[in-house]
Amino acid sequence: MAFRATVLTLYPEMFPGPLGVSLAGRALERGDAVVETRQIRDFGRGRHRAVDDTPAGGGAGMVLRADVLADAIDAACDEGDLRPRLLMSPRGRPLTQDLVRELAAGEGALIVCGRFEGVDERIIEGRGLREVSIGDYVLSGGEIAAMVLLDAVIRLLPGVMGNDQSGLHESFETQRLEHPHYTRPAEWEGRTIPPVLTSGDHGAVERWRRAEAERITAERRPDLLARHGRGDSSA
Ligand code: SAM
Repeated sequence: MAFRATVLTLYPEMFPGPLGVSLAGRALERGDAVVETRQIRDFGRGRHRAVDDTPAGGGAGMVLRADVLADAIDAACDEGDLRPRLLMSPRGRPLTQDLVRELAAGEGALIVCGRFEGVDERIIEGRGLREVSIGDYVLSGGEIAAMVLLDAVIRLLPGVMGNDQSGLHESFETQRLEHPHYTRPAEWEGRTIPPVLTSGDHGAVERWRRAEAERITAERRPDLLARHGRGDSSA
């Protein structure tokens, strides 16, 4: 069965957006993945279909109502729908390649995109939402964050990447940043390709790549090495 994402948003016209081109676009075309949207405003209250209200306790901005979101979520999920329910949120668990892999192995996801100041806290527990953040910065809405997550997930679905091997050495798959890449021409503006890469010695190439990945990770993301330990990058 295809991976199915249901995105709850006030801006369904933003989808598929960048997911409609290249690798993800072809996956959607083939039906390897389905990205459907639901307009939260369809469940709004009153003549103006209000979806938000002022924050309890005062303060700036507006808050997406729990009752409106609950109706939107309930309408999007059948009783037996076991897909994880995610809320894109700067407060959430960071989106990592481990989480991407976990999601790609499942049936899909329901994704709630926040707007304004955020959502009424009660919906998180009330509908079992897992908060996911794409980084330590604040976007104006959850849609782009949802697209980032979905792009990362869709490329891992079976058959989506042309060469299945190409994912294996990528940044984070081995808890290391990736080694550098080169291609023709052999010399460009006086810069050459490291000779080992054109030596034809596959063992030496592999050792060089591993050492480079280790070096770059130590330089740029020592936290990854601290978290996962050194010397286990051969996976
Ligand atoms: N008041 C919130 C705060 O300070 O944490 C920020 C709300 S933001 C303006 C509106 C919505 O954008 C959020 O509810 C969330 O859905 C989305 N969003 C913003 N930054 C995000 C991030 N780094 N990761 C995931 N979603 C994000």
